[in-house]
Amino acid sequence: MFDHFDYLYIDGRWVKSHGTSDISIENPATLETFARVPAGDTTDVDLAVRAARNAQQTWSETPLARRIELMQRMLELFKERRETIIEWEAKELGAPVSFGKQAHCDYQFDRIASYIELASRVELESAFAASTVYREPIGVVACLTPWNYPLGQIVQKMIPAVLMGNTVVVKPSQLTPLTAYLLFDAFDRAGFPAGVVNLVTGKGADLGRYISTHPDVDMVSFTGSTRVGIELSQLALGSVKRISLELGGKSPYIWLPSESYEAALPKLLGSIFLNSGQTCTSLSRLLVPRKDLERIERSLVEAVSRLRVGDPLDPATDIGPVASRAQYDKISDYIRLGLAEGARLIVGGLPDNPDNGYWIVPTIFSDVSNKMRIAQEEIFGPVLCVIPYDTIDEAIAMANDTIYGLNAAVYGPKDMALGVAKRIKSGNVYINDGPRDLTAPFGGYKQSGLGREGGLYGLLEFTELKAVYDHGN
Ligand code: NAD
Repeated sequence: MFDHFDYLYIDGRWVKSHGTSDISIENPATLETFARVPAGDTTDVDLAVRAARNAQQTWSETPLARRIELMQRMLELFKERRETIIEWEAKELGAPVSFGKQAHCDYQFDRIASYIELASRVELESAFAASTVYREPIGVVACLTPWNYPLGQIVQKMIPAVLMGNTVVVKPSQLTPLTAYLLFDAFDRAGFPAGVVNLVTGKGADLGRYISTHPDVDMVSFTGSTRVGIELSQLALGSVKRISLELGGKSPYIWLPSESYEAALPKLLGSIFLNSGQTCTSLSRLLVPRKDLERIERSLVEAVSRLRVGDPLDPATDIGPVASRAQYDKISDYIRLGLAEGARLIVGGLPDNPDNGYWIVPTIFSDVSNKMRIAQEEIFGPVLCVIPYDTIDEAIAMANDTIYGLNAAVYGPKDMALGVAKRIKSGNVYINDGPRDLTAPFGGYKQSGLGREGGLYGLLEFTELKAVYDHGN
């Protein structure tokens, strides 16, 4: 399918893995195994980290303008792969092409362009009362990423890390590693020096811990579940590595009392159902005025009936399958749990069987109590919990009654919505149909993470501060 799938990218070359097995990549819509990549082993990690270490000093001393120039070249080459990226995300993740071309492809091009633009303006030196403070690269950064936005999560770490003069070892999720190959191919063809970027595919449980404790890794930048993030951080702290964590969420969407809620629907549906609900920022808890519950339920059911679930390669499809058998089983268990907890199913429900693909239709529970497990735990699928409230104070209290704090949204008159937004404990809050801003910092409060990605803050995340007291001769 692609010449390089048999290889890892280490020290500026496509090389065979020392591992003895492969990882099969399954299409969740057809259950066909359509590609294989190596299950890299610890020797591969050692070689990749050594290459990154050897390249680090020279790369950190390479002028920022040159790093930017190479990154720009990489982006141009990567853009040539647009059609392939869209097709492979449909096949490895089940992302419909209609959604994938924007979210998994063009948006990632824009993200890279945004980092490049901001890098040319970043302040790496500032004068203090009796010192100069410099921002320097951290060193060798290990990037561990999840499967749900296969390219996006890599881009969010790797691009700013490399621009800021770090060298990287990337381990993508074993479920969706394919588009990472296209990205590394573009880095290779752009002429980056050997060792600056390294790709090791492999299983998280086998390689994640090894990378996180590797003596030559200076920083672990992890995106994934809160459980694994905590485990890896504890290991990484054993040698006081820098840690950045982008973790899970259970994000609230508060609808303030209104005559009509129609204008709030697109953000809700896009957030909780597109990508089959497998988005860390999914607005998975909808808090609505109790007095309007019935009419809101009617409009939700009607809106969901317009969503087309089907073949991801069909341009008319809105929602594809969930990404894997593990996802299918986990989401099905949560739907069973919701029924057992006494939530009221108003649309969707348990899937038939997984033998014809991992299909789960948009599912909505109403009359959910915020204390229920389906309202507290990250389902990470197309399952919405509608939670009625009586007062706005109660809505805010419930929005904040979660271990997470990644994302939130408020729909209503702007001033009032802003007042509510300020009281929500989360790293991002949208008001009405405010679009996402690539230059804003992204990340979580509480157990949703540590640190920020995106924009200027995302660049600075990959720098160390050095104060130089430069008085005297
Ligand atoms: P995950 O934690 O299972 O895996 C993430 C990465 O860690 C993968 O590369 C995986 O191979 C590796 N890994 C898995 N188990 C490991 C282990 N025991 N030891 C070491 N490494 C291990 O997460 P996932 O299922 O791939 O992704 C879904 C999660 O990611 C959700 O919780 C979602 O909210 C979160 N997420 C967060 C953000 C964000 O920006 N905050 C973005 C996307 C996804």
